[in-house]
Parts: sequence; structure tokens; C-alpha cells
Amino acid sequence: MKSYASKLLENAVEELSRLPGIGRKTALRLALHLLVEEANVAESLGKALVKMRNEVIYCRVCHNISDHEVCEICSNARRNNSVICVVEDVRDVMAIENTSQYSGVYHVLGGVISPMDGIGPNDLTIQKLIDRVKSGGISEVIFALPATIEGDTTNYYIFKQIGDAGVLVTTIARGVSVGDELEYADEITLGRSIISRLPYENSMRGQ
Ligand code: ZN
Repeated sequence: MKSYASKLLENAVEELSRLPGIGRKTALRLALHLLVEEANVAESLGKALVKMRNEVIYCRVCHNISDHEVCEICSNARRNNSVICVVEDVRDVMAIENTSQYSGVYHVLGGVISPMDGIGPNDLTIQKLIDRVKSGGISEVIFALPATIEGDTTNYYIFKQIGDAGVLVTTIARGVSVGDELEYADEITLGRSIISRLPYENSMRGQ
């Protein structure tokens, strides 16, 4: 264990190094940086983090992160709220929004079905999605889940529940980015794969 000459500095390094991708070396660099900057830099950082943690909520409709009960995408009159794109988590919403190729709304599942990890349908927002589709006014559901066994299982599970609801079920095209997680796909590839989506039943036959 290194000696930091200051217990306060050591605590700060300890807390920073809990963050994903931040080793102790980086944590020390960040802490020392905050120490030499004006005091208000550390203050604003601390305040922003606490405020975010306490006040960000999940949209009651799509479960995206939001500052309001209904998120900005769901409450935007210019969005086509009859088309729902189903994604694993909020990072996928950000990735798809960055493509500027999609004008529908979303449904964030909060994960995918994974028996190995003990994640079943009831641990996700799947029932809310099914209720949303069955309550009417939906013309299309687009699956944009990862191209993994878990993603496929989740697609199939949802399809079985909504297949008779009279909505078009499609899946984003998986050309170049097979096996990649959505957030890592580049914007052009992801944008294209949304535009050239296919009926889900066709993709099942191809498997
Ligand atoms: Zn929403």
C-alpha cells in the first residue's frame, strides 16, 4: 500500500478507483488534478454527481433515464409513438439517437433474459412492453437487442407474447455488426441496420 501523506487524499483515490475502468494510478491523477484546480471545480463535480444520482428517474412509459416522469422522447410530439424500438439498456437508446435515423420511440428492457445469470422475464420490463403493445395504437415493434443467444431468446419470448397482437414485428439488420453490442457499432452501420430492418419471422426462418 502506497503512502499518500494525506488520509483525505487516500480516501478520494479510494472512492475514484471504485469506478469502472479507473485504476489506482488514474484515480490518483484525477484526485491530484482536483487538488490543484480551483476549489469550485471539485465542488461542481461533487454536486453534479449527487444531483444526478438523487434526481434522475426512469420514464414511466419507456424506462429510459429521464428528468421527468415521461422522458423527452416519449413526450415529443414529433416522434412516431406507434413504432417501438426494443433495446437492452439506456446506452442503446443513446447510440440509436446518435444515428439520427430513427423517429419512433423506445422500450428499455433493463437487460436480456439470461438463465445462466438468473435473469428471467420478470426481472425485466417485458410485461410493461407487452401491456404497451396490447393497449393499442402500436403499428410496429423493432427488436434491437444484442445478437447473442440471450438476445435471441429474449426476442423470441417477446414475439410469442405479442405475435398475435396484429403489429408488425421487425428486427434490425445484422450485417457487419453481428455479435457486437449496439453501443459499439458505428453510427453509420447502426443507422443503416435500422433503416434496412427485416420482418422478425424472416430472420427466424434463416436461423
Ligand atoms: Zn420515455
